[in-house]
Amino acid sequence: MLKALTGSSLVKTSTSSPLTRYFGHLSKSKTKTLGKSHGRVIILGSGWAGYQLLRKLNKKDYEVTVVSPRNHFVFTPLLASTAVGTLEFRGIVEPVRGYSKDIDYHQAWVDGVDLKRQVIRCTSNLEDNKGQEFELDYDKLVISVGAYANTFNTPGVKEHGIFLKDISDAKKIRNRVLECFEYAAQPGVSDQEKAAKLHFAIIGGGATGVEFSSELYDFISEDLSRLYPQLMDHTRMTVYDVAPSILNTFDSKLADYATKKFTRRGIQIKTGTHVVRVEKDYVELKEEGKVPYGMLIWSTGLSANPLVESLKDIAKDERSHRILTNEHLQVLDDEKKEPYSNVYALGDCATILNQDLPATAQVANQKAIYLSKTLNNEVKGKPTDQGFSFKNMGSMAYIGSWKAVVDMSAVHEGATEGGFLAWLFWRSAYLSMTVSARNKMLIPMYWFSAFLFGRDVSKL
Ligand SMILES: Cc1cc2nc3c(=O)[nH]c(=O)nc-3n(C[C@H](O)[C@H](O)[C@H](O)COP(=O)(O)OP(=O)(O)OC[C@H]3O[C@@H](n4cnc5c(N)ncnc54)[C@H](O)[C@@H]3O)c2cc1C
Repeated sequence: MLKALTGSSLVKTSTSSPLTRYFGHLSKSKTKTLGKSHGRVIILGSGWAGYQLLRKLNKKDYEVTVVSPRNHFVFTPLLASTAVGTLEFRGIVEPVRGYSKDIDYHQAWVDGVDLKRQVIRCTSNLEDNKGQEFELDYDKLVISVGAYANTFNTPGVKEHGIFLKDISDAKKIRNRVLECFEYAAQPGVSDQEKAAKLHFAIIGGGATGVEFSSELYDFISEDLSRLYPQLMDHTRMTVYDVAPSILNTFDSKLADYATKKFTRRGIQIKTGTHVVRVEKDYVELKEEGKVPYGMLIWSTGLSANPLVESLKDIAKDERSHRILTNEHLQVLDDEKKEPYSNVYALGDCATILNQDLPATAQVANQKAIYLSKTLNNEVKGKPTDQGFSFKNMGSMAYIGSWKAVVDMSAVHEGATEGGFLAWLFWRSAYLSMTVSARNKMLIPMYWFSAFLFGRDVSKL
């Protein structure tokens, strides 16, 4: 049930537009109510966990509502490809409403959860009534709001660095790279300025940082080198990491293989390096002092979503601040660690007590499938006794120039591969995992177009 908070202290009247005031009466009425027999399930977030759950949940018996500030799902493993134009943004998103007409959706942030009243507090994320607040009540609640990038409180990162978490970040990166090249190509720019503008710094040598560096390397070496040949001597990329090696969650042979490939291509890898601060034009490193850059990508891990931080009375992991659940993915109370029977948490924002699983799409996806089965079986009167167990399907990363590393040692002992075959596997695996038939068609078309005609270099 939608309860607009008009008239209460929660309403931010200053943000209401004439349009909102005209249509204000709508927010007082209930939204589309499907009146399903097993009540309303509200899913917070439209990421890997939330979107998969939405797809698999039985919508004949449950009234399924999604609340998320973005109205689509993003296929994150291919996000780095869109940041340089190997793929186009539309090819890796799936609209929430597009999947099923039997769901309800609100484009809003969830700011609070009242576990006693079984109510969530939301703030609209639409242009025309941004900031307007309303409440929704639930019978079952699924918290899958993901996590934020971790800056480790390093000064200047939020202001000057770019994260790679969402489509808006990928758009920012694409424009920034082109801005740097156009700037360096203008008359009167000194060699020193060119070298500074064309230094691309990637902070974080995990899978995301490495994949992004590889995509950027391809973009520069295959497309920009053709368009700005005079600038190639000034262009460089550096991957910084505090750890002693990059790709440290992969088999060490694969990490070495990737390191060698990067070094041979002239991508500098500086491990054991600590960032002290980030300023507009330079990054200050403990080991080297001030290093100028044109674009700085920050990809160093995760911190808690502010909603999760604000939640009271629920148990959280001390180290990662993620929500603690039991093996049935039910949220635990803070004091006795007993489960709330109708509140679940999964994806990057949650972890199972005494089972520290990685924050990956693979885990989020498998947990969503598990929870959908549990809830669907509940309708049939068949409770699920068995808790969630993770099946590690291995990991992969693109390392540039038609090469990838694939580590399947968790599935078959010694099953690791690096090179062209691994790249073929990487591409086909992700293509098969994309959701809609539309994107399964679009993605190979974009790949083919980038191969034939080069990547689009329009700055939009
Ligand atoms: C560039 C990149 C590449 C990656 N590659 C891989 C890979 O190859 N393999 C792999 O396994 N993992 C990969 N990951 C990790 C994977 O994307 C995450 O583990 C996964 O997205 C987690 O799913 P989630 O549903 O928990 O969170 P997300 O997918 O982050 O979704 C969170 C959702 O919650 C919404 N939300 C946030 N705050 C609120 C709020 N207050 N109220 C309501 N909604 C909210 C967000 O808008 C979003 O829709 C990658 C991540 C990135 C960024």
